[in-house]
Amino acid sequence: MLDYSVSDVKGIGEKFADDLTAMNIHTVEDLLFHFPTRYDVLEILPLSELIHEDKVTIEGRVLSAPSLSFFGKKKSRLSFNVEVENIAVKVVMFNRAFAKNQINIGDTITLTGKWDAHRLQITVSNYQKGSMEKSTNIQPIYSVKGEVTNFRLKKAIQQAIKDFGDEIEEILPRDMIREYKIPTRKDAVKTMHFPESRVSLKHAKRRFTYEEFLLFQLKIQILRKRRREQSAGNAQQYDESKIQQFISKFPFVLTNAQQKSLDQILIDMKSPHRMNRLLQGDVGSGKTAVAAIGLYASITANKQGALMVPTEILAEQHYQSLKEMFGGLARIELLTGSVKGKKRKEILTDLQNNEVDILVGTHALIQDEVHFDDLGLVVVDEQHRFGVEQRRALSNKGLYPDVLFMTATPIPRTLAITAFGDMDVSVIDEMPQGRKEIETYWTKANTFDRVLSFIEKHVNEGEQAYIICPLIEESEKLDIQDAVDLYNQLVDYYPDSIRVGLMHGRLHPNEKDQVMKEFAANEVQVLVSTTVVEVGVNVPNATIMVIYDAERFGLSQLHQLRGRVGRGDKQSYCILIADPKSETGKERMRIMTETNNGFELSEQDLKLRGPGDFFGTKQSGLPEFKVADMIHDYRALETARNDAQEIIQFNLLDEDSEYENLRVLLENEGVFDTVLD
Ligand code: ADP
Ligand code: MG
Repeated sequence: MLDYSVSDVKGIGEKFADDLTAMNIHTVEDLLFHFPTRYDVLEILPLSELIHEDKVTIEGRVLSAPSLSFFGKKKSRLSFNVEVENIAVKVVMFNRAFAKNQINIGDTITLTGKWDAHRLQITVSNYQKGSMEKSTNIQPIYSVKGEVTNFRLKKAIQQAIKDFGDEIEEILPRDMIREYKIPTRKDAVKTMHFPESRVSLKHAKRRFTYEEFLLFQLKIQILRKRRREQSAGNAQQYDESKIQQFISKFPFVLTNAQQKSLDQILIDMKSPHRMNRLLQGDVGSGKTAVAAIGLYASITANKQGALMVPTEILAEQHYQSLKEMFGGLARIELLTGSVKGKKRKEILTDLQNNEVDILVGTHALIQDEVHFDDLGLVVVDEQHRFGVEQRRALSNKGLYPDVLFMTATPIPRTLAITAFGDMDVSVIDEMPQGRKEIETYWTKANTFDRVLSFIEKHVNEGEQAYIICPLIEESEKLDIQDAVDLYNQLVDYYPDSIRVGLMHGRLHPNEKDQVMKEFAANEVQVLVSTTVVEVGVNVPNATIMVIYDAERFGLSQLHQLRGRVGRGDKQSYCILIADPKSETGKERMRIMTETNNGFELSEQDLKLRGPGDFFGTKQSGLPEFKVADMIHDYRALETARNDAQEIIQFNLLDEDSEYENLRVLLENEGVFDTVLD
């Protein structure tokens, strides 16, 4: 469409074109869609409404000839009076000596600057002779780079609109534009750059918000449809009565939420399309139990299962608990980096011969040497810790294995639609009965002694505690040093009857193992640790979680850590030690003490941190929108999603000419032929 080079715009020479290239603006289209990042609104208000020290715009008649004075080496000050609403207002301009001869008594002048309500004085940053054409003047402010100034860019865009604006084609069907009362694409582009009024700007933004969301949702839906079509043929013929038997041996009944999620998973597994499902639920809500049933279902279908987790400790734990759950029903093996030599060879060979039913492990599971015979189900725990590549590698090991991602980081509804739009989502939003709510307290660092005696008291009653060490940004080394220091202090502090353990990422796997075993067996009562215990660790006798420097953690991580306790039937406590300086920090501590509900917490976290930070920026995988805002524009997102579903369901892209341009645009972006993961 508008893929002319920017140098085709009148007035853009080679040099300027190069500068624009440096800003990633190559084509006229790039230029036209380089929207302002914000707007300066100049609006003339009555003097009585001007706020002291605000940036304001006033219009007046010059009453006195400007008087010029110099100070410092080269600095100047120009001052004069203007009449506004029959009141004399004093005007001060710094370092604009040249203006003296341009401003004459009787002139009308528009002044923008900082308002001093006490002295009725304006310190001018910008002025313009004459009056503003409209009472509101909205100035676009662009992100610029290098030699490109806001002024030049604005002029260039103005010219581009003049030269090429009429070639901007509509991509939305006319009915939609009418129904949603949004401006056409052409008009909306013009308005984004040169808004006539706040209202027209609002509608232009509304249009692009919707357009961005719709395109995004269409891409997701198309991928999803393609994925379903591609993976025909992996229907798993599991044995329903065996599954029921397996479940009936659990020492508990499934919660309704577990049952519902399980049903959804089993339906997916049986169906010919490949499962791509996210299982969300708070720590301890029983996701692993559900996943285990899924793995068993695969085995009854004569297939194999894999469980991939982020850390060795966790792999070990899952391995143990699966072995307990399955008894003699399946052969389960553990494959981590520390399984070596003969044992490793044996596992790999047996895996290839379908003699291993379930393989549990870390990233080691996705290495090239690992070959399954017939992989039916892959369960990935804490999926947000895995990159897309790793997921892809694992999924590709089987023919078309069903994939179940589990996460204990509840993902806000808002993000679930965007980040996981092409996944089906099951939610376990209900805790098994009889769990006691964890009591959470927030205290200042200077009360640490009291916290230590609190721990002592509970340890004397047979309970155990974690103390999570200060988190120092980005430096595992320093984290470890702090853990070691604290450990030494506590060893000195507590009587010999209380054993203190130390856990951090740099320990040898055997040492980690040893410490965890001792803690699990209550041979160690107080475990000082870095955040390595964050995920999945399960020691039901531990009732106290102390988090040092808690203000340094995000809400989700605090909640994860808190989830290490409250796993037994005793009352558990989470103690946050923090002296947050910022309001957000304080707010986080307050929220933690007020709610135990992971979903509620994640919504709050999202509000405090913004979507980019939510998953950690690196692997967020979140789309970047130019105009739309996933949180504020949530309603538009839902509308766009529904529309996209309808468009795909009724095949409108192919069958309705009104959707022709939309289809072409998606085609150009490769949506119909990118490689599926
Ligand atoms: P998650 O993986 O969501 O953290 P798990 O599946 O590990 O949760 O379950 C946590 C604990 O709760 C385990 O000890 C498990 O045996 C137990 N559990 C799971 N489901 C139930 C249930 N429906 N009723 C009682 N206890 C349950
Ligand atoms: Mg789990």
